[in-house]
Amino acid sequence: MFANLSDRLTASFKQLRGKGRLSEADIDATVSEIRRALLDADVALPVVRAFAASVRERAKSAEVSQALNPAQQVIKIVNAELVEILGGEARDLHFAKHPPTVIMLAGLQGAGKTTLAAKLGRWLREQGHTPMLVAADLQRPNAVTQLQVVGEQAGVPVWAPEPGNGVGDPVAVARSGVQQARDKQYSVVIVDTAGRLGIDAEMMQQAADIRDAVDPDETLFVLDAMIGQDAVTTANAFAEGVGFSGVVLTKLDGDARGGAALSVRGVTGKPVLFASTGEKLSDFERFHADRMASRILD
Ligand code: GDP
Repeated sequence: MFANLSDRLTASFKQLRGKGRLSEADIDATVSEIRRALLDADVALPVVRAFAASVRERAKSAEVSQALNPAQQVIKIVNAELVEILGGEARDLHFAKHPPTVIMLAGLQGAGKTTLAAKLGRWLREQGHTPMLVAADLQRPNAVTQLQVVGEQAGVPVWAPEPGNGVGDPVAVARSGVQQARDKQYSVVIVDTAGRLGIDAEMMQQAADIRDAVDPDETLFVLDAMIGQDAVTTANAFAEGVGFSGVVLTKLDGDARGGAALSVRGVTGKPVLFASTGEKLSDFERFHADRMASRILD
């Protein structure tokens, strides 16, 4: 995903090779290069600005190091800044004191919510939890069947609307699903919700109604890292319309420019908790800012 950004950053560091120490002019030239590279990777402007200012500041106040040459010094600073904008140390999911822990997924259609429900369910099962999935996406044809299929692959039970459990009413399905999880003593319940291709008021309202009905311990905003500049508008719309406690980045295996992944923490202030890196259920991991930063600077 970050191939181009990586190349550009590496090229800007190369220009510092052979320099005895960092001059102001070198720092300014390198920071301008980094700034352009980030903008070209679709990173949101306010994030780029803060990043550039911070790198400049750190580089100018850096002690003259015996151990590191100027290029290495700048790489170290950029690495630290990348880790910072990616959110630093990952936090754990918040689990409810009294189970079940309710996790609601929200995001645009196609962001990867249904796939994620199964991935997260599988992951939680491996951690010793007893998860259950709830199919409250009644908008997209086949979303319920899709969740049942991936749920089965993941070995995680799925609560789906049937006559009597609120067919056609996603809020009722979500509520009855969580009740079912409580009655059957599942420890975590993951509620899949509907998205639209673009942001729309009705969809936001539905997601907000589901949120009110199930009172989630975590609302995870599922963001397709391939959507580039639109990521910021989408994230802001969900922050305002539904609110969320954490972010999951999907499609990090794609070849888009990666700006969404680098912007979302800075724009929303919410941590990225997980990363989805492919279509297989095992293509899923905790998000580690330091690993992603190293991948970018590889
Ligand atoms: P939803 O509409 O938000 O529920 O999205 P889906 O879970 O149906 O995912 C939409 C498409 O993206 C499906 O074809 C998934 O297989 C695919 N998908 C989901 N996550 C990833 C990922 O991390 N990488 C890739 N390459 N594809 C993904």
